[in-house]
Amino acid sequence: MPPARGGSCSIIDPALLFVAGTALPAQEPPKSPDPAPTLESRCDAAGAKASSVRALPHRRPVRVKVVDRKEHALDLVAETERSFGGRLDEVEAFLARLGLIPAKLRLKPAIALFVNQAVGASYDRDTVRVFDANVSDSTLVHEMVHALQDQNFAMASANEQTPGVDAGIAFQALLEGDADFTEGLAMHPEYARDLEVHAKRLRAESEAAEARARQGAALTPAIFSRTQTFWYTRGEEFALALYRSGGWGAVNRAWGAPPESSEQVLHPEKYLAREHPVRIDTSELEASLIADGWAVRYATPVGELVTEIWLEQAGPRPVDVGATFKAAAGWGGDRGVLCERDGARFGLWLSTWDSEDEAREFVSLAERTLPAADGTDGDPDREVRLMPDGLHAVLRRGADVFILLGCPPERLAGIEEKAWAAPRTIGTRRK
Ligand SMILES: [Zn+2]
Repeated sequence: MPPARGGSCSIIDPALLFVAGTALPAQEPPKSPDPAPTLESRCDAAGAKASSVRALPHRRPVRVKVVDRKEHALDLVAETERSFGGRLDEVEAFLARLGLIPAKLRLKPAIALFVNQAVGASYDRDTVRVFDANVSDSTLVHEMVHALQDQNFAMASANEQTPGVDAGIAFQALLEGDADFTEGLAMHPEYARDLEVHAKRLRAESEAAEARARQGAALTPAIFSRTQTFWYTRGEEFALALYRSGGWGAVNRAWGAPPESSEQVLHPEKYLAREHPVRIDTSELEASLIADGWAVRYATPVGELVTEIWLEQAGPRPVDVGATFKAAAGWGGDRGVLCERDGARFGLWLSTWDSEDEAREFVSLAERTLPAADGTDGDPDREVRLMPDGLHAVLRRGADVFILLGCPPERLAGIEEKAWAAPRTIGTRRK
């Protein structure tokens, strides 16, 4: 789930997909007698095709290299960590507190494992890296689109405008969606003839891929499989929506103003209408906790996609996918904060919804993430449970929802007061 947002304008293809407990041995690069010329010429042809379809020039030569998977795994871990400012441990703790990954899962080995088994190629600084010289032409086209993005759009600055988990997912969806959309048109020129039909095709593919990711969730934390699926499938739908609104020019412009949230990718009309997420300023709330000896280990917008995944994962069984999607769709903005003191961690998650009814709809599912224990006072907007690790609560006031995960009981009143008072602003771009 932490998306690759390298500040060194490198692009990492592999998602942070994790398959629990299945370590496959690293594979050696194939030892064919003379694969290089063939691979290079195929890569050149893929580059020409990508450039022609995407209507962008390559500005520097792009090399192709067969690399060792183990070496690449180490690069990827370092790159991913840099993309979070060296805070992979904090992201890991934050996701664990939300219940989105098992408490004992470590992101670094999870990333390395995934690279060993699921990735066919990647692009980094004018180099396409493949693990197998027999990589498909469509994969080469995809990677050469990443080269076009890198060489034409000042990627390093584009992906640093809005830090955090949600903006990172949204940026990665632009990156992979653009590449997959171009790859699709390059390999199947007939797709361009009827974009309405293509949109329906992509919608069906997204739904099928999401269903597969859900089925795989028994082995792979949904936060990884669903997020990775999102980058490619919802990202491709997003690229198509931009393309239909104004051709490649509209897609190119998105590189100067990337989607700020997964909400804008899920609902491209919101991106096109410049409907920004609401930003919630929790600095006063955080300051009061710091004064009390707590450290703020991580804070980020969580976003519509991760909210939906959370409802599916932590909410009522059996999962009603239609209901969780619909409940998350009213998302207007949020902020999650992870605090730590003396080894104890608790999470705060403050969100605001498009209307009071939307907030109620979210609460009706969110409160069912709490165990049915005593302590309920019968108020549908106030569910509080005292558990061994502290207070867990789902609280609503107007269109705002405040979720606490393991809060020290004596702090509830003070924290709650500051949460409801936290300033909200309609977000604007940083540049
Ligand atoms: Zn890619």
